[in-house]
Amino acid sequence: MFKRKGFLFNANLCIGCRACEMACRNENHTPANIHWRHVKEIDLGTYLSMACNHCDSPECFRVCPQHAFNKRKDGIVEIDSSLCNGCRLCVKACPYDAPQYNINTNKVTRCQMCYPRQDHGLPPACVEACTTGALTTLDLNDPQLPETVRVIPGFTDIRLTKPSILFYPTRPKRRYFLKQSDNI
Ligand code: SF4
Ligand code: SF4
Repeated sequence: MFKRKGFLFNANLCIGCRACEMACRNENHTPANIHWRHVKEIDLGTYLSMACNHCDSPECFRVCPQHAFNKRKDGIVEIDSSLCNGCRLCVKACPYDAPQYNINTNKVTRCQMCYPRQDHGLPPACVEACTTGALTTLDLNDPQLPETVRVIPGFTDIRLTKPSILFYPTRPKRRYFLKQSDNI
């Protein structure tokens, strides 16, 4: 059976350092206004690191009149931006804000899951940079997947595009409050 590459995210381990975001930018030389990977705070101290989810039913692929998107056998949805005519239908269709329009080039680009790195046995740059282990990859066709869920708070409904990402269930964060001293 073919692999279906996907991301695995553990919000319990993410500290919001944005190392994944910066590694993505360094690897792909994206301009400052283009965000292939984006870390957002979904609750106080709880973060979600998100890029293209290389969906099993990718809306970008379906709506693109230029056929700029291609789904590889390993599940990665690549884009050939040289074919893009700047119509931005994929930007509107993607539920995850993954396709990024560059006004200067009139082209859309987005995360390619670092397939040139993966084809050489390396992890995606974002995964390599995540020192806490919050962001990793997995094969969604692996019969022995870890105990995961398909949605966590802050993640858009999965039914439309069947995104290739799984999550560890989130645990409530422990918060500590300083007890006010009587003599202050
Ligand atoms: S997340 Fe968006 S851009 Fe990525 S494959 Fe899915 S629909 Fe396409
Ligand atoms: S590098 Fe890891 S811990 Fe840091 S923001 Fe990204 S996912 Fe979270």
